[in-house]
Amino acid sequence: MIVNIAVDGPAGAGKSYLARAIAKRRGYLYVDTGALYRTVALYMTQKGVDIGNPTEVEASLPGLSVSLDYGDDGEQRVILNGKDVSGSIRTPEISSAASKVSAIPAVRAYLLDLQKDMAKTHSVVMDGRDIGTVILPDAQVKIFLCANEKARAKRRYLELCEKGIATTPEEVEAEMALRDKNDSTRKIAPAVPAPDAVILDNSDLDREGTVEAALAIIDKRLS
Ligand code: C5P
Repeated sequence: MIVNIAVDGPAGAGKSYLARAIAKRRGYLYVDTGALYRTVALYMTQKGVDIGNPTEVEASLPGLSVSLDYGDDGEQRVILNGKDVSGSIRTPEISSAASKVSAIPAVRAYLLDLQKDMAKTHSVVMDGRDIGTVILPDAQVKIFLCANEKARAKRRYLELCEKGIATTPEEVEAEMALRDKNDSTRKIAPAVPAPDAVILDNSDLDREGTVEAALAIIDKRLS
């Protein structure tokens, strides 16, 4: 049986850690959909496309090919026009550009089938913003992971420091708050919980505690 698990929620809640951990423990494929929007944003930025102009962005989509690849380590890689760009999409600039391009209907339509097809052919844990509402409305398990702003900003700041990206806690908090506001209030596929999602607030949980709580939700839903 193919199992689809959707993990949605705001930035910095720990979706990718959680989704990756569940996938590893259960032998499913981890699909990070934010990486797809980040890759579109990278392409547009490199091409000098005005991402504030939806018509210009839409007109540039035919020159873009995005795909996912899984190496021997099982880690997802994003391929942009034949080149692995996984190492270039995590900067704060690309985060905010991704949030802007993701509000453009043509961009969402462009990435739709790729995401849906992955889940048709594999058991997946897919993380993003609209997985439970738009991409996998029939997923057997939907988790909406959230945490208070302070906790999320702190985690994201430490993550960026680990990656050697220069920033400050204040900058991270401001960038995240703006992105979450845009993501949750946009007209198309806003980042809101699906009616049948389980809300998991992990403000007071560590990573392992979050994984355990999520596995309990999954086991209950799948039993
Ligand atoms: O998850 P991540 O922070 O990498 O996503 C980057 C941006 O891509 C988000 O801020 C959001 O605007 C967009 N996104 C989206 N729908 C998804 C995944 C990400 O709109 N399913």
